[in-house]
Amino acid sequence: MKNTFWISVISLTYIIHQICGFARFDRYSVIKAIPKRLGDIDHLTQIKHRFLNDVDFWSESNRIEDAILFDVSPRLKKNLIHYLDKNRINYTILTDNLEQWVEKERLYATESMKNEINLDSIDYERYYPFEKYVDILKYLHSKHSAATYKTIGSTIEGRMIPAMVINNDRDVKKNAVVFECGIHAREWISHASCLWFIKELLSGDGKKLLDKYEFHFIPILNPDGYVYTFTHNRMWRKNRRRNYFGLSVACDGVDLNRNFDINFCRDLAARSMCSQAYCGSYAFSEKETQSMRDYVLELNKTAKIDAYFALHSFTQLWMYPYGFTSYEPRSIGQYRKLSKLAVEAIRNTHGKTYRWGSIFETMRYLVSGASLDWIESQNLADFSFAIELRDTGEYGFLLPANQIRPTSEEVWSAIEVVLLNI
Ligand SMILES: [Zn+2]
Repeated sequence: MKNTFWISVISLTYIIHQICGFARFDRYSVIKAIPKRLGDIDHLTQIKHRFLNDVDFWSESNRIEDAILFDVSPRLKKNLIHYLDKNRINYTILTDNLEQWVEKERLYATESMKNEINLDSIDYERYYPFEKYVDILKYLHSKHSAATYKTIGSTIEGRMIPAMVINNDRDVKKNAVVFECGIHAREWISHASCLWFIKELLSGDGKKLLDKYEFHFIPILNPDGYVYTFTHNRMWRKNRRRNYFGLSVACDGVDLNRNFDINFCRDLAARSMCSQAYCGSYAFSEKETQSMRDYVLELNKTAKIDAYFALHSFTQLWMYPYGFTSYEPRSIGQYRKLSKLAVEAIRNTHGKTYRWGSIFETMRYLVSGASLDWIESQNLADFSFAIELRDTGEYGFLLPANQIRPTSEEVWSAIEVVLLNI
């Protein structure tokens, strides 16, 4: 009975979202907590798991002294603040009206969808809507003989998942490098950095790397979710799967980075359809993860994959497997060496600090079903890295477009160093 009631409330919330168009965050607060002891982390985890409909955690870290951002609905705020105070958790309120932040993004999104792009002089320091992104990729394909645009599958809403292969000499057998971007819809800097890397390779500067590797970019692995961040909800993370609880519509979406077949759904919190990390009904249940899996398996038949990079935001982390266990990956010595080189290159570019280590070490959090762990466990690439891009909680997912250039530059310099040292 209780369940039915909650599902009805959730369905109603869903319908309101649909009627009103763009999701609003009036009087939602954004809170930045800095846990000082293990007990603080336990309290924050409780909040995260108990109030799925009123609290959205923006970062996944469970480490002492790491900033943890989350937003909270106005109806829960008073009780939540009381709880934080009672348990003496260190926190600051960044805004009492998230809507003001999101409104800026909405204006940006509306403008981006209206404006025509000048393809002869592409501005790479902008966040583009999905269709324009695809136009840019197709244009680059038409302009550069090294670039091949293709699609790797489709989504539940019928969009094609774009890919770009870059190879300056197809007669020479080369090892492959794969980039997985935009698996999480709201992490716009991931999509933008991926496009920046494509531009770098196609400019004369990429020759050294192109002589050594064939590059495979999946710049927008979650097209439906990405479109939804432009049209309905800037804070959307998952794909757009409609989930049903019996005959009722429950919360939408599956977290694609919990849907790979590695220790699938062992994290209890990922089993709730309303969780931002909902794992889906079974491993590889989603068309996006199936497409990524099939693409990598197929590529692996014809080429050795030296490296797989997954781009996320935010918190500035350079990570390697595993996330589902504290066990170390096969080539741990090499992983450490390459990661040190990477963060050093990042620091030398614009002075930013990225922490490095395994996903488990850096986040102190067990993650099931992540792409990186699946790649490593299946031995599909020599090295796989997940990079949490800028920033450390000033803007979070709403990173201004003027940070696309420095973010992409620093991470590209790290990727170059890693690829030239493998
Ligand atoms: Zn992510």
